[in-house]
Amino acid sequence: MAKATREKRDKQFGKWFRQMLIDAEILDYRYPIKGCGVWMPYGYKIRRLVTQLLRQLHDGTGHDEVQFPVMVTETNLRKEAEHIRDFENEVFWITHGGLKALEIKFALRPTSETAMYPMLRLWIRSHSDLPKKLYQIGSVFRCETKTTRPIIRVREVTTFKEAHTCHATFEESEAQILEATQIYKGFFDACGVPYVISRRPEWDKFPGAFYSLSFDVIMPDGRTLQSGTVHNLGQNFSRAFDIQYETLGGDHEYIWQTCYGISERAIGALISVHGDDNGIVLMPDLAPIQIVIIPIPSKENPQTILDTCREVADELRSEGFRISIDRREDLTPGAKFYYWELRGVPVRLEIGPKDVSRRQVIIVRRDTFQKEACKIADLPKGMRRLMNDMSDALRDKARKWMESRVHRVATLDEAAKLLKCRAGIVELPWCGDAKCGHIIEERVNAKLLGTQAGSEERTHGGCAICEKKARGLVRAAVAY
Ligand code: ZN
Repeated sequence: MAKATREKRDKQFGKWFRQMLIDAEILDYRYPIKGCGVWMPYGYKIRRLVTQLLRQLHDGTGHDEVQFPVMVTETNLRKEAEHIRDFENEVFWITHGGLKALEIKFALRPTSETAMYPMLRLWIRSHSDLPKKLYQIGSVFRCETKTTRPIIRVREVTTFKEAHTCHATFEESEAQILEATQIYKGFFDACGVPYVISRRPEWDKFPGAFYSLSFDVIMPDGRTLQSGTVHNLGQNFSRAFDIQYETLGGDHEYIWQTCYGISERAIGALISVHGDDNGIVLMPDLAPIQIVIIPIPSKENPQTILDTCREVADELRSEGFRISIDRREDLTPGAKFYYWELRGVPVRLEIGPKDVSRRQVIIVRRDTFQKEACKIADLPKGMRRLMNDMSDALRDKARKWMESRVHRVATLDEAAKLLKCRAGIVELPWCGDAKCGHIIEERVNAKLLGTQAGSEERTHGGCAICEKKARGLVRAAVAY
């Protein structure tokens, strides 16, 4: 019987991750352009469930889905000075149409502010046009100069959900930041992926933003993955793109904006956080196949076994479960177990001759490999309960694991020691000064994820560097 060990995953995470993408047929990274991968049918189905969840969460909170072109004119890309300064080094340019050089180059969007905001200027006239909450799911492009990694650091991010909102006042934009944070919490909780939310330091916020919040996930190797970001843009972009609205009193004011994004990195986190040495483990709600039925062949009455498999499948399908029967004749049951374990299917049902006569099935759950018999009549109810139990167990296990990797320390030495062995996240008292922040980053050889919201009241004592009164806890980690 298989065991749910995680030794290989944790010790050689990079290798495990690349292997899983190929072996579980999620994404093929052998495409002949560096940093580009191909979603394979099974991976695409996972991606579709994830984007469906994102759509539900955004549609349900009054966001409207749109689709903008992937090309942005150079003029628009350069409008917000900080924005272009940060992205300039990684923009892909389209310079030619056929053999002729273009008069104005086009950029492949590195993110969509500069594509969307000239249009918002046309769409927003008066206070009655506000608030406006739009989102899209599509590709963005970055000419990554660092080492690329499938899903985690790519040149074409194929699954970028970005939302952009417009408001009449700063207070409304702040309320939107809260809503966005709630949406993202709901999303990551549904994925069972635990996170910490940090306010990024000034020098690491989104280019052009007033401030940035980030959802960071600790990966099995102890490095963090920025998996979602929420930005209050203030009026920086509305001033650059001249987006004004007429107030009730007839004045003209610049709008207040927010934007927030989640990419396929969330799928990378989902796969990594729950996986084990036997393969990936999918949250039942996000599994393309939730239950796989394996007939255990018998020479005497193979047809009765198949009939029972079909009967069980029909019954469960009519209850809304996503089901497959593995009827391949060239594979042994053992080979099939291995095949579906690798692909993270939450539940396996085995049906053999004894089970047929007893009107039962053998249930094996993917996360613990626990085995039990269940009467066919009790299956629909039992499956629903099992899916819920498994979702809770996966979420809980991941959260406990993460909590054990967040370390509160008082000194730089302790922080450096922990980060050197990739122990996760360290939290240090910090005065909030950029100078001290940079010293921390240098001395612990890691990145400041930012401050923990609300940690101000709970922090006593002095900054780990200057010993002045700490203004909160700052988190540091070795980040992807
Ligand atoms: Zn300090």
